[in-house]
Amino acid sequence: MIKEMYKNLGIDENVYNFTKNIENELKDRFAKIDEVAEYNQLKVMKAFQKNQVSEAHLGVSTGYGYNDIGRDTLEKVYADVFGTEDALVRPQITCGTHALGIALSANLRPGDKILYISGKPYDTLEEVIGIRESKGSLAEYGIKYGQVDLLPNGDFDFDGIKKAITSDVKMVGIQRSKGYETRPTISVEKTGQVINFVKEINKDIIVMVDNCYGEFVDIVEPSNVGADMVVGSLIKNLGGGLAPIGGYICGTKECVENCAYRLTTPGLGKEVGASLDVIHTFYQGLFMAPTVVASALKGAIFAANVFERLGFNVIPNSTEERYDIIQAVTFGSPEGVIAFCKGIQAAAPIDSYVTPEPWDMPGYDSQVIMAAGAFVSGSSIELSADAPIKPPYAVYFQGGLTWQHAKFGILKALQQLVNENIVTI
Ligand SMILES: *Cc1c(COP(=O)(O)O)cnc(C)c1O
Repeated sequence: MIKEMYKNLGIDENVYNFTKNIENELKDRFAKIDEVAEYNQLKVMKAFQKNQVSEAHLGVSTGYGYNDIGRDTLEKVYADVFGTEDALVRPQITCGTHALGIALSANLRPGDKILYISGKPYDTLEEVIGIRESKGSLAEYGIKYGQVDLLPNGDFDFDGIKKAITSDVKMVGIQRSKGYETRPTISVEKTGQVINFVKEINKDIIVMVDNCYGEFVDIVEPSNVGADMVVGSLIKNLGGGLAPIGGYICGTKECVENCAYRLTTPGLGKEVGASLDVIHTFYQGLFMAPTVVASALKGAIFAANVFERLGFNVIPNSTEERYDIIQAVTFGSPEGVIAFCKGIQAAAPIDSYVTPEPWDMPGYDSQVIMAAGAFVSGSSIELSADAPIKPPYAVYFQGGLTWQHAKFGILKALQQLVNENIVTI
């Protein structure tokens, strides 16, 4: 019956059979993922119940948003989930880049230096920092930038970090996820080790972790191992597919207060910012997030196994431990990348009939193709794939609000590659 349904949706029998065998081999790994989701679900429940989330918190606020108890309580819930003193969780934070931009600009002053120790940061941050020139960048305000690359094996370069921590380094940045790089993602455990190392050199350095795509993949977060701020987007993991906008910054009281003064304005800080009618989606999205992340992880692992078996380089590989929900598959040609994205698009609940094309997306230095037939525009916790059109022609696949949908997407992508004779089974 299932095979027949897949057939109706354009999946050939040999594609189905090939992937079914692979799925059957993954049962134990999927069970482990479900255990992590179970733990994180309980973590979320504990925070909801401790803060006595009630119906009154789910309502609408307008205007200045003074005394918005829904918003203020949600921020307490987030702080408890992350084990931080405070949190800023707002629909006024437009995206992950904005959240990171706030975290940096709010806590750095002219003459200070930000040192990234996980190599080059995510593309859009290059303009925030001023690595690529942009109006209003941190560089324009006299904030300096330094970078220590990861070692070829993906580990932190402890010697290099020690040398680079000069007296002007006020903040250290660590990006957990690979972004558009083909390096491994960094575990929370390794993040904790390097944070200890940095704090031993200078305990006053603020450590900021770009937590995008890493949330709830593990039972610990970087804030549990010493990070002063963890930052991310609500249209990724923590929004659970329900938040239509937003970002978060969880951290020390001082860091979060600085962020609030930067997001709104000095003096007003956290006191203003109406949550309109989105706050109930933030609550429910956080509630759903542990199982949504689990679904996305299963999809990523399934994709790694399918495409590795077909001879493509996949990062992470089919058996590696996971630290984020991203799966990179290197096709080595623009055609492979484009076919994969077409297949993902064809599996979408929204806009499944459109064909994605490479375009000049703001903030990126090459053309980018994106497949995203999402309920929330551009959401990448929903099934999506994107790729910069440049060597090594790797596609970055992520999301899937349900495992069943993630699987369907991967089958459609494989079918498209078969149809275009890029892959033979
Ligand atoms: C997605 C992402 C960002 C930027 O978030 P946007 O919401 O796309 O602005 C920054 N860093 C990492 C690692 C990301 O994955």
